[in-house]
Amino acid sequence: MTTYDNDNIFAKILRGELPAHKVYEDDDILAFLDIFPLSEGHTLVIPKAPSRNLLDIDPDTLCTLMRGVQKVALGVKEALEADGIQIRQYNEAPAGQEVFHTHFHVIPVKEGQRPGPRPSDMAPQEQLAAVAGKIRAALGSGLNT
Ligand code: 5GP
Repeated sequence: MTTYDNDNIFAKILRGELPAHKVYEDDDILAFLDIFPLSEGHTLVIPKAPSRNLLDIDPDTLCTLMRGVQKVALGVKEALEADGIQIRQYNEAPAGQEVFHTHFHVIPVKEGQRPGPRPSDMAPQEQLAAVAGKIRAALGSGLNT
């Protein structure tokens, strides 16, 4: 088992060292848009406490995180007028994990559409900002980013 790296991208976002289009934040979790969205509104939900993934996260932290995942999923569904939501979560590199701070993907899906493939370029900042604003409004999160 490898250890938690304090310099992973999401740890830097949590410390404010890297920017993110935040949609929800409380004492325990942060949600922000994925910059390579598989569908418009693709959001990542992370705990503030450090862990690599589902395999080493404290169970109580996981329960708190899952409450947040549900809350964010409802906001994303409303904001994007989605017909469904995919939740994805990967554990360690062989299973597809790329960023080693626990996170859940919240991916809105419309009737007749399939998420993906992953875009080769980052989504335009203005587009991400507009989508984040819609999700924040749906969540009433009061974040001012
Ligand atoms: P996973 O580790 O579950 O495979 O996926 C990590 C996710 O983080 C990917 O979907 C990728 O697009 C996203 N990602 C990678 N770098 C950044 C970043 O700097 N900012 C944001 N918001 N997302 C990122």
